[in-house]
Amino acid sequence: MAVATEETIRTVVQEVLAQLAQSGGAATVAKGDGDWGVFQTVDDAVAAATEGFEKLRAATLETRAKIVAIVKRICDEQAEELGRAEMDETRIGRLDHKIEKLKIVKLVPGVEFLRSDAQSGDHGLTVTEYAPFGVIGTITPVTHSLPTLAGNVISMVSAGNTLVVNPHPSGARIACEGVRRFNRAIYEETGLENLITIIEKPTIESAQEIFQHRGVRLLCVTGGPGVARAAMASRKRAIVAGPGNPPVVVDETADIENAAKSIVQGAAYDNNLLCIGEKEVFAVCRVFDSLMEAVGRHGGYLLNRDQIEQLTRIAFSPPEKPGGHAVLNRDLVGKDPAVLAEQIGVQVPAGTQILYGETDVSNPFVAEEQMMPFIPFVRCRDADEAIQLAKEYEHNYRHTAIIHSRNVRNMTRMGRLMDTTLFIKNGPCMAGLGLGGEGYLSYSIATPTGEGVTNPLTFTRVRRCVMVDDLRII
Ligand code: NAD
Repeated sequence: MAVATEETIRTVVQEVLAQLAQSGGAATVAKGDGDWGVFQTVDDAVAAATEGFEKLRAATLETRAKIVAIVKRICDEQAEELGRAEMDETRIGRLDHKIEKLKIVKLVPGVEFLRSDAQSGDHGLTVTEYAPFGVIGTITPVTHSLPTLAGNVISMVSAGNTLVVNPHPSGARIACEGVRRFNRAIYEETGLENLITIIEKPTIESAQEIFQHRGVRLLCVTGGPGVARAAMASRKRAIVAGPGNPPVVVDETADIENAAKSIVQGAAYDNNLLCIGEKEVFAVCRVFDSLMEAVGRHGGYLLNRDQIEQLTRIAFSPPEKPGGHAVLNRDLVGKDPAVLAEQIGVQVPAGTQILYGETDVSNPFVAEEQMMPFIPFVRCRDADEAIQLAKEYEHNYRHTAIIHSRNVRNMTRMGRLMDTTLFIKNGPCMAGLGLGGEGYLSYSIATPTGEGVTNPLTFTRVRRCVMVDDLRII
């Protein structure tokens, strides 16, 4: 057994003292009675996140970059285990994509996205800097519980903020586990605590408490229409990443093979859980039949009219009041194509990516955000009709729209009319988030409130610092 020398003992003691000094004198226990950032009440979580913010404020930008690197590293190295845990808990989507969505968290931009702007002139120098808000109330969806949380942490902490998270109740276990792992590693490497806090048993009431809490400076909400409305009705500034129902237009000039491949790739991803995912297709009659054949070659399984009717009856119930929305059967959300097919007595070949078939616009799969891998294809007279229908069934969410075309006028006309946050031409939906297209990744795309694909600058206050003097050197 090695005997510790006086020198090694001195080094160990110095390291312990340095750690204690960095953590403000606390021992290795997390503050605020939390369990590495996991709290039972909103008050406790906000208090701990406020204390975390004060410490982060005093830390260097290099420390923020280190925190971002830790979150990216954990998502990458532990993607398999965490992805599996998310799949086991939520029971929606596809395991391969749950894992991939964590692996690609490293593509979310961090501290390098921040910048300062300067203006010099006869009257001196003005510097514009991008400062943090403080504690951000964050709501995450069940469709990508941990990836959204991790992406939000990267954007928000890069900008110097801390978080109090109300996760979706059906994805809360994995969200809390992620927070524990992030916080523990952050503490070990930087001595900082409670930069991310989370409510262990989230409810609508705890979300409301966060919306109202005096200690919360800003809200960032990722979810469907209910939570988007609730956040915008609160008295706080809210960055809202709301629902979508992305239409795809295919005109007669499209590369049909590429269109079919792209539609299948986007719609099949995580069993069509993506808010940007292709949800319904409007194709002109001149290419309709060849498009349908091509989708079959790329992993689609074609359903006939009777089979579509049966599936529709299982997937939706009639509207609760006349003129209302068909009600989505949540039990089928995010299920495999084989599971949907089984419901109507159909066996599909292994490797089937999506189910698809021809419908008219009265089928609720067209109007509703189905979040399951059956894609309705609607036959249209011409590009004008296809674009008009795309506009109607996107419901002005202004989220995402896609066109496959080589006709620049059709592309431009559709882009203008749709007015969506993401408009993708000749690629799958994910090209809009830097995956096969140019640009960067985020899991929160702020649609009704207009901030777009969120990034660290989204979560900053713009501050101006002015010096009046004779500072020009030119
Ligand atoms: P959801 O609306 O059911 O839940 C989202 C979150 O909001 C959850 O944490 C939930 O607990 C909470 N919530 C729901 N109603 C609330 C209310 N009235 N008050 C306070 N909190 C409330 O959505 P989901 O099924 O988890 O996720 C899918 C939806 O989210 C889809 O509509 C999808 O388009 C959208 N989404 C959007 C983006 C984007 O970036 N724009 C990203 C992912 C998902």
